Amino acid sequence: MNRRTFMQAIGSAALSPLLPQSVFRRRRPSDPGWPTPARWARLKRQLNGNLLPVDFPLSACPRDFGGAACKDLFANVTNPYWLGDQPGLTENFGWVDAWMTRPSVQAMAATGAGDIAAAVNFARENDLRLVVKGGGHSYQGTSDAPDSLLVWTRPMNDITLHSDFVPQGCVGAAPYPAVTLGAGCVWADAYDAVTTRAGRYVQGGGCMTVGVAGLIQSGGFGSFSKHYGIAAASLLEAEVVTADGRIRTANACQNSDLFWALKGGGGGTFGVVSSVTLHVRPLPEFFDYAILTVRASSDDAYRRLLREFVAFYRERLFNDHWGEEAHCSPSNLLTLSMVGQGLDPAQSRAAWQPLLNWLAQSPQAYTIESRPIIGAMAARDWWSRAENPSLVADPRPGAPHWHLWWRGDGGQAGLVLHAYESLWLPASLLADSEQPRLAEALFDASRHWEVELHFNKGLAGAPPAVVAAASDTATNPAVLAAFALAIIAGGEGPAYPGVAGHEPHLAQARKSRAAVQRSMNALRAIAPVGGSYVSESNFFESDWQHSFWGSNYPRLAAIKKKYDPEGLFFVHHGVGSENWSADGFTRLRN
Ligand SMILES: Cc1cc2nc3c(=O)[nH]c(=O)nc-3n(C[C@H](O)[C@H](O)[C@H](O)COP(=O)(O)OP(=O)(O)OC[C@H]3O[C@@H](n4cnc5c(N)ncnc54)[C@H](O)[C@@H]3O)c2cc1C
Repeated sequence: MNRRTFMQAIGSAALSPLLPQSVFRRRRPSDPGWPTPARWARLKRQLNGNLLPVDFPLSACPRDFGGAACKDLFANVTNPYWLGDQPGLTENFGWVDAWMTRPSVQAMAATGAGDIAAAVNFARENDLRLVVKGGGHSYQGTSDAPDSLLVWTRPMNDITLHSDFVPQGCVGAAPYPAVTLGAGCVWADAYDAVTTRAGRYVQGGGCMTVGVAGLIQSGGFGSFSKHYGIAAASLLEAEVVTADGRIRTANACQNSDLFWALKGGGGGTFGVVSSVTLHVRPLPEFFDYAILTVRASSDDAYRRLLREFVAFYRERLFNDHWGEEAHCSPSNLLTLSMVGQGLDPAQSRAAWQPLLNWLAQSPQAYTIESRPIIGAMAARDWWSRAENPSLVADPRPGAPHWHLWWRGDGGQAGLVLHAYESLWLPASLLADSEQPRLAEALFDASRHWEVELHFNKGLAGAPPAVVAAASDTATNPAVLAAFALAIIAGGEGPAYPGVAGHEPHLAQARKSRAAVQRSMNALRAIAPVGGSYVSESNFFESDWQHSFWGSNYPRLAAIKKKYDPEGLFFVHHGVGSENWSADGFTRLRN
């Protein structure tokens, strides 16, 4: 337990006796007021049977590690679609000293907004802890809470394409090409419908198994966000069930404050989104790629390499074509896995040639570890298995053929995190006079842990209209002026406490957390007010309101109070969560 969680635990323990007897506590199954079997049965009838006790597949393992059920589980655990199909599991299995995946008591497998409203009313009337799960990809465990009622949106995966969509009530507004996605869709569903089948583009996430509603409420970045912007900025309309059980339409013309909050204000906080309608854009002819790993022969050579890469990035890649990642590692490796849009194969290769030429001048200092893969492919084939060898298919019989995931994301299934931090790096660091400082900070940070620069998660270099659209969302305004989001993270998996051979390594996890913190501190020294991306951030973030939302927090807090005055919706470090105990069961203040 770090100092902060220790203080929090002491704080809430010390506070409890001081709380008046009438303090509001949500009910657990052991409490006398927990709904009777007859009341649950009535809810189940109201939901046409779509209410189920939640199975916890991992419970088979501590009892019988060698048994068929456990073997079956570990055979499936690396398949993110299988994980997503389990209401009692999450994509990551937890975070050491923070949370571990645990099932709700009952799950409502939602089929529409009416079902969701029934579950919301039931939770409110019976003082239950309510939790919402879509794709289950929250690093912070915000779609997971024991002793709760789960709204599980997975079955709601309808998709409708529109050629002329006008948000409800926006009389006289220009129509948009758009797509309406049920809240249970993951991005693979959206890309198949919009790009592979219809030859258009919708801005979603890089990871294909992330849920659409969770990502939109995060802000949301995909590989091509430098050109198309954050996913939340594409939201035209959402259908949402608020804490009072009302089914509302939120768009620029009605419930516009709620609409703004849903665009990056954090999932599980303002209501349950049942569908989102997103702006669909033209697809470029090509998507580009550049994969390259360079090893430097010494620390000095690595410093020079980072210096050169920063200058090269500023000169050739700091534009709306190129996004995704550069990794700087303690072993003096620079690993580039970048993607782009809009350049033909020759233009893509030409963009990288100056770096290749520079490396070729110093063969003693730099080794290219494997043949660089640089080029472009038909954009329409990017998310389709037949054409893209970097994709893995859900191997289960009968799985939809578009249910694919990127090989690089596969390692996150069943992962237990040791640490995760992110920081937006302002584009001012790319100025000629600042580049040496930036390169040196990357070098210093990489002495402690591998540093990832995600260029598509900062909007500096994007078209002005894209930056303007993002500024009309709840995402921390730091994103507008950032050239990249730095991510430093570590974990192990699949792992879970009590599972022989798969126990998380606690001592190692705490050491790793300290190293990640030292690494990030080297970057904070050059970007002290960077801010952090809410959905890819530290569970233990101290000033989280400011880190995640910057100057937008007071406005978000007011909208939360308006639509959810009693705090029915609670998530760790979500808007308004400061009023609740860490587990969301006890109200500390109004
Ligand atoms: C492997 C992996 C890869 C990722 N890649 C990216 C990426 O490329 N780009 C990026 O921007 N982010 C990425 N993320 C972060 C991800 O976008 C967020 O964690 C997102 O919130 C996950 O949404 P979900 O529905 O999959 O997860 P869930 O855990 O189901 O939900 C996340 C949060 O949203 C809430 N929520 C879900 N559905 C609804 C709903 N219908 N109504 C109201 N609240 C809801 C949940 O209660 C929870 O608080 C990644 C995360 C992982 C684990």
